[in-house]
Amino acid sequence: MTKRRFRKFVAALAATTLTGMLTLATGVGVAQAEVGKTYDASVDQTIADIQSYWAKTMPSVYGTQYEAIPTDRVFPYSESNPPPNCDDGGQTKAPYQDVAGNAFYCSNGDFVAYDEQGLIPKLRSQYGEFAVGLVFAHELGHAIQARVNYSPSASVLLEQQADCFAGAWAQHVATSTDENVHLSKDDLDTALAGLLALRDPSGIDGSQDGAHGNGFDRVSAFQDGYEGGAQACADYQNNPPTVTESGYTSQSDYQNGGDLSVQELLPIVTDSLKSYWTNATTKFSGATKLVSGDVARAAASCPTADQGALDDAVVYCAATDTITYDAARVAKEHDSIGDFAPAVLIATEYAASVQQSLGRDVQSAAGRSASVCLAGAWTANVGNESGTATSSSLSPGDLDEAIAALVASRSGNVDRGSAFDRVASFRKGFHNGPSACVQSSPAKSAGQKSTGQKSSGSPTTGAKAPGHKTTQV
Ligand SMILES: [Zn+2]
Repeated sequence: MTKRRFRKFVAALAATTLTGMLTLATGVGVAQAEVGKTYDASVDQTIADIQSYWAKTMPSVYGTQYEAIPTDRVFPYSESNPPPNCDDGGQTKAPYQDVAGNAFYCSNGDFVAYDEQGLIPKLRSQYGEFAVGLVFAHELGHAIQARVNYSPSASVLLEQQADCFAGAWAQHVATSTDENVHLSKDDLDTALAGLLALRDPSGIDGSQDGAHGNGFDRVSAFQDGYEGGAQACADYQNNPPTVTESGYTSQSDYQNGGDLSVQELLPIVTDSLKSYWTNATTKFSGATKLVSGDVARAAASCPTADQGALDDAVVYCAATDTITYDAARVAKEHDSIGDFAPAVLIATEYAASVQQSLGRDVQSAAGRSASVCLAGAWTANVGNESGTATSSSLSPGDLDEAIAALVASRSGNVDRGSAFDRVASFRKGFHNGPSACVQSSPAKSAGQKSTGQKSSGSPTTGAKAPGHKTTQV
């Protein structure tokens, strides 16, 4: 996050990626997900499966037959065996340093090439075989775009659609009965972490040539495809997705990487949360207390604790309307992911307090999921609050830090859903506002003990939907 001190334009960092290429970012600030073991198809099996998926899917989505890329036009490359040069349609070899650590589709020659030395082993060891599969699903997505002559105004839209196509293929794998291609929830969660690793560096402007999208944009496109299939991705052509990626807008934000210290952050976040939620619903008083302390003890002594919607380190107790956080662990999240990670942890527990005032259950898995969704709704409105002491706005890396915090969260003894589901909940609130979050979450049952606030007793929330605004990041 950033305090608004002054607005000075800082030129965006130069993008080093070429259009249509994937590149593995360095210094990824996301806790590494466990590597799933379930997806174990070879590269050849994976490419064959993606092409068979398109042979089946292309006629219904685009009304044309899929023309497959022959296996002799798929090029693994390495330093000693560079790939064909895309610029001249493959007449010469490309300089390896230009394509090291990448995979790409070249429409000028209709071929796919991938670095079997600098990309695939790294992806495989860090994020599992399914993340490797997604690279090919993304690149073959560019082959689909070439076949239907899709050329949007900004290259990031090509990348978003390719990520969406990768999500559509992932859905196909999830429902496949082929013994060679199968998927577990762990694979999906690991793939999300892989997509975050493949994001653009913070501060890239989404309109810049070569931009692929920040982690939030990439994961959003992937989930769109997973949930809506290839048709949802084809629909991007008429209804483009929101690109949240943007450059830094102030020198100070650029210099500190968009991160406030924990000491600066917490009062700004709680001020913003109080302003947003007291405006959103008259039933919320904004009296929620935030204290640092022994979280395990606080949770054990509170019969109405939500056990932490995202993490054991921050817990809400409905009986006392208090959020207790473990200062050391919050500081660790801040240092390992970035300042918006603790912001999301606090915002999620604050959302539990809002739910409590609306008479919603905060102790079930559905209640915790709704809290995550509501944190997304607040995030979309950061910078639009009124009556706060300090004006704040999101920095370029903040949404990625939110996703990283959601992915890093673990279930442990508490059912917090999968990383995929947590991210989907957060996105739902971010894009559709708070009303979308509480419609599906349970109201307290009649027998449940009241904790001092009256239940609304109604499936409606009493929330005034502030309406979605495009967030400035
Ligand atoms: Zn691409």
